Amino acid sequence: MKKRSKRVTRTRELLSRECIRVVPLHQPFIGAAAEANLTYRGGSLLPNVEVFTIFWGKLWGASSGSTDLMNNLNQFFREIVVSPLLDQLAEYNVAGETIGHGSFIGTKVIAANAPARSVTDLAIQKQLKKWIKSRTIPKNKANTLYFIYLDPGVSSVMGGSRSCQSYCGYHNNVGSVYYAIMPYPGCSGCLGGLEVFDALTGTSSHELCEAITDPVPGSGWYDDVNGEIGDICAWSFKQIAGYTVQLEWSNQQRKCV
Ligand SMILES: [Zn+2]
Repeated sequence: MKKRSKRVTRTRELLSRECIRVVPLHQPFIGAAAEANLTYRGGSLLPNVEVFTIFWGKLWGASSGSTDLMNNLNQFFREIVVSPLLDQLAEYNVAGETIGHGSFIGTKVIAANAPARSVTDLAIQKQLKKWIKSRTIPKNKANTLYFIYLDPGVSSVMGGSRSCQSYCGYHNNVGSVYYAIMPYPGCSGCLGGLEVFDALTGTSSHELCEAITDPVPGSGWYDDVNGEIGDICAWSFKQIAGYTVQLEWSNQQRKCV
């Protein structure tokens, strides 16, 4: 039996108060827990995910580099939601919910009320509801998943933990509004030796697959010890359509694929 690293244990302790739904800080991938097994808890899935990206900050679009990054992330979603990454999730189909391809439905740059230093999960939830009410972003439907990207230097705070200190991104829900938070990977713990874009596609793919299979954390496919589908395989990657994406746990194959 391989011993799991201290950092894995620490991350799990930090998050043990609530369901694991984060990308942890970078750690060498030492293999998935042999006993990992996702079980279905009866909640809804996002069988045909519709991704809408929100770039919330004053720096998005302020430089050609940031514009390129936004365009590249949007193109990543266009291609990845119709790729084998989603096909491989079919083993998690449940009655009435057949996981298939998704779509990229749009994007928005929002500078108003952008956080300067940090933003809590509660603040994100309030803001999301305001954006929907004011029609700043399209109203959520059953399969909508908002991906919110933060400015460089802005950290995310969730459940007493902070991005770049204990995690690199997470997904969550407020009622039937599903979202993922993607802080800018401005630390080695969230770059893991990758370029910014590759780190972002890696962590985004982690949260995408988790939001599809467990949109309300802990109520879809979940493992009480190891967390969600992506947590079991964190920081182990492959290439799909030229993009860096994370491996995901397969119950059928008993490994990360
Ligand atoms: Zn996760």
